[in-house]
Amino acid sequence: MESWTVMDVLLILQAVLVFGVIVFTLGFAAASLKEREPRAAWLAVVICLVLVAVEAGIYFLYHAGFFIAPAGIFIFLVAGGATGVGIFFLVRRTDPNPGVLKGFEGYITGDVKRFDEREQAFARDRAIRPGTDDYRVFYQAHPHLEQVDAKRRDAGGILGTPGAIDRPREIPNVSAMLAAFSIPPHFGRPESYHPDIQTAGNHRPDPSPEEATARVKGFARHLGAGTVGVTRTNPLWVYSRRGEIFYDRWEQWGKEITVKHPYTIVFAVEMEWEMVATAPHTPSVVESALSYSRGAWISTQLAAYIANLGYSATANHSRHYDLLMVPAAVDAGLGEMGRFGYLITRQLGPRVRIFAVTTDLPLVADHPVDIGVEDFCSVCKKCARCCPSMSIPEGDKNEVNGTTRWKLNAETCFAYWAKVGTDCNVCMRVCPWSHPRTFPHRVVISLIVRNKWARRLFFYMDEIFYGKKPRPKAAPKWAGL
Ligand code: SF4
Ligand code: SF4
Repeated sequence: MESWTVMDVLLILQAVLVFGVIVFTLGFAAASLKEREPRAAWLAVVICLVLVAVEAGIYFLYHAGFFIAPAGIFIFLVAGGATGVGIFFLVRRTDPNPGVLKGFEGYITGDVKRFDEREQAFARDRAIRPGTDDYRVFYQAHPHLEQVDAKRRDAGGILGTPGAIDRPREIPNVSAMLAAFSIPPHFGRPESYHPDIQTAGNHRPDPSPEEATARVKGFARHLGAGTVGVTRTNPLWVYSRRGEIFYDRWEQWGKEITVKHPYTIVFAVEMEWEMVATAPHTPSVVESALSYSRGAWISTQLAAYIANLGYSATANHSRHYDLLMVPAAVDAGLGEMGRFGYLITRQLGPRVRIFAVTTDLPLVADHPVDIGVEDFCSVCKKCARCCPSMSIPEGDKNEVNGTTRWKLNAETCFAYWAKVGTDCNVCMRVCPWSHPRTFPHRVVISLIVRNKWARRLFFYMDEIFYGKKPRPKAAPKWAGL
């Protein structure tokens, strides 16, 4: 039996490497078909065919005597070395982003004024009633908003004619959306849960902060939270005054908000990709509404759970927010803020809605994380390019209330919502971080989280595989379209 030469060994090694790449690419093709991404699937198949052809060529040339030592060995070693160096540069952890590791405080460059909830578009639309003294006082102080808000009210509110983009066919999706939005009012009245020690037979269990944190996070996940973290409550992110009114408590409008709870538990609820993928059509707003419903369900039970342990807690969900969710989520280590102003998490990208529970239960706070979002966004800009109302900045960050960050134009964004009758979600759909976490995407995410060159490579691959302006997908059968 002939013994193997160095060339034989090199040939086998490169064949094993290429075989591994082909298997991964075929897995990607299969995942793309499942995700209804035919372009990505076809490109992956083409890459596989090219690799097979290259392998066949190498095999043919080898047997034709082309790779003769030492020149053949040299070619293989150079190619292998270049591949190894490339992999090393894509896999190693590159320098962290120190600003991001400070959490939302990393954006502060001046004096930050607490945000007044009355100025938020939802509050203006729902809680400032024409003809009242509140109306007169508010628009005297904000004259530039009166026309915009009057027009929005005349058009039917934030969503205008709900589901307008798919009417008259998709009335069932509007019905599903309204059904989901009808759930949160059943929860959390009043939203603050006070200590109830009867459960423990008048003995407060007083768990250690470590145990309490593990239990609270575990319970939140068990209830359906996709990811959960804890931060110390930062008074800067607490609304200064109440603007959203529910349960007819009109006396609350304009009241100063104080949160005495030192801890905030923040969690994100996943929005299913197959629904988000239809944005800006009605299935995506059904998913938003369902997420708000799930968030109310989870946060209310979490607050009640803490009260039963003998501590006080307040659920923050769509019927009651005391603080801004994105800064709290960034501080709790759930992810980073993207160019479009949404939170981007490692586990689910931006396909989330955020909720919180504030409490005096002693907990262990998490740290902000650097997952590479800010660096990725500095190259990407896909959301800005695809936004139908051009509300997302393509350029540098701006000064906003004592912070320097990307800031979307909420007024033009909401104007588009009113036009289509949904909450749009196009930016969420096209964001490269939004892909469902199938195996190939999990591999890509683990690389872009740690390496800046991988971010650039996979951004350009995203453009090639999914297009510069990806189109909405068909909805699941039950949701029509
Ligand atoms: S929700 Fe739509 S309109 Fe608003 S910023 Fe995103 S893409 Fe633009
Ligand atoms: S689409 Fe690109 S620029 Fe926009 S948030 Fe996502 S990663 Fe950042």
